[in-house]
This record gives sequence, C-alpha cells and structure tokens, in this order.
Amino acid sequence: MLLRRIVAYCMFPFVFAGAIIASAVAWERGLSPFYVMVAVSGATLAVVALAERLMPFHKEWNHAQGDVGIDMIHGVVSNLTLPFVYRAAFALLLLPVARALEHVVGGAIWPTAWPLAAQVILAAVAAELCQYWVHRAAHETQWLWRLHAVHHSPKRLYWLNAGRDHPLGLLILFGAETSALMLLGAPDRVFFMQGVLTVVVGLFQHANIDLKLGIFNYIFSLNELHRWHHDENVTIANHNYGSNLSVWDWIFGTAYRGREGTSPTVGISGLSIPENYGVQLLVPFRWEQAQKETSLHKG
Ligand SMILES: [Zn+2]
Repeated sequence: MLLRRIVAYCMFPFVFAGAIIASAVAWERGLSPFYVMVAVSGATLAVVALAERLMPFHKEWNHAQGDVGIDMIHGVVSNLTLPFVYRAAFALLLLPVARALEHVVGGAIWPTAWPLAAQVILAAVAAELCQYWVHRAAHETQWLWRLHAVHHSPKRLYWLNAGRDHPLGLLILFGAETSALMLLGAPDRVFFMQGVLTVVVGLFQHANIDLKLGIFNYIFSLNELHRWHHDENVTIANHNYGSNLSVWDWIFGTAYRGREGTSPTVGISGLSIPENYGVQLLVPFRWEQAQKETSLHKG
C-alpha cells in the first residue's frame, strides 16, 4: 500500500527532525532541559507505540512473553536512574582531568565557536567511536560479553527492551560515550542534544516497526540494521555495533543488512536467561551455572 510505504520511509526522519529542532529551540528559550526531555521522550514513544500496533515488523513480537514487567524494571533502573548516577560519578572523576588537559593544550579543546549543528555532529561521531569499540569488545571478549548478554536475552524486539541492560553492562557503554564528551570539554547544551539524539534513536532502534530507512541506514543505527545485531547466529550478530550512528560500522566493515523480507531469530544461542531481575543481575557471576541450567532445560 502506497500510504504505508510513505509512512515507513518518512516516520523516522520526520520525528527525528522535529525532536532535534524543537529541543534546540527550547534550549535557546531557556526551557527546563528535564521537561523538554520528558516531552521529547513522551511524543516519540507515542508515535513508536502506535506504529508498533499499526505496522509491526513481526506481529508475534507484539505479544508479551512474560518480559514486560522485567523490561519496566530495567527501564526504571537502567534508563531513568543509573545514567544520572553514572554521569555524576564520571563528572567527579573526569572533569578535573578535562581541566588539566585544557591547561596542557593551552585552551579549550571543544570548538565552542562552531555552529550548534556542527558541535552536535562532532559529539555524536566522537561519542559513537568510543561506544562502537566498547560495544564491539563486549561481543568479542568473553568477560565483557557476560555483562552485555542480558541485553541480548529477549526473544523478541519491541520499544521497551531497548533499556534492558545489566547495570555493569550499561556502565561500560554509557561510560564510553560520557567519558569521550567530558574529556573533550563538551558543553551542557551539546550533552543535552546528544541526550535527545539517544532517546529518539534508542526508541526506534528496537521498535517492532516495519520501517524503511533507505539512505538513513548509512547514518543512523536503527531497527532495520540493529535487529540483525540481536540474531542468535553470532556470525550475524557480531555486526551493527552502532548505538546512535551506523557510520563506524560502515567504515570498519561491520555493517550488515539482511535481505528484504527476511528476519533474524532473536536471542542468544546456548543460553537462556530467565525473566527474573535478580537472576539477570547475577548471570555474569554465575555464567557456567546459567549455561548448565540452559542445557539441562533443553535436554
Ligand atoms: Zn550488543
């Protein structure tokens, strides 16, 4: 249907542009960044939740699998609480280092005189480079994979499981992004815009919507690429590490796009992590036990 195809191509760019422009204007007018972020998150979520019902990628992925309650806990802990705690801790540790670096180079490192759009692009690309390598290491290094595995444990993708993260897995990915921007001396306004970018892309990235991203797949790491990162098959899953942007995946040769009309089988091969928050917190520390329980369960 032509209308559905138009919506599939236009939804993300329209919402993204609206969120970015509205947030930049709101900051200029001195509105509370917190309330602006709440409004952007709410509006994006409303679009995503409605689109999941009207044009799902997989109808079955709209059916709960005993995962909604757990994902809500992860959302509150790993999206609404820990980022503020981690950010305060990183500021305490890294801002003195950033001041010292500025002293060494004899001035500000961050190009504050650039137009805002250029600063936001620089922040997104720099933060993404650090996140890319940390995320890639989390897939290629066994002890880091144990911290990241909870994020890959769901058997379906929908908007809420974007926030499913072990607190320590979140720490390494959030730390990569935040450290880069803090050490470079990025101002609060740029951090805010990076936050808006993360919220909008994050909500679309795991969404069960049959989007067509076209050329945007070469810039943003959205669901058309990211769903393959959740494939059970490790040789496929070890692609598309981008958090907000896909540019480093294309540059470093890890971008992967499945054929149109095909779909990944989502989850972790050989490991089933129960839908229990306490168990999920302990999984990295009782890894062999979790693997044994999975094989016994299958046997
Ligand atoms: Zn991953």
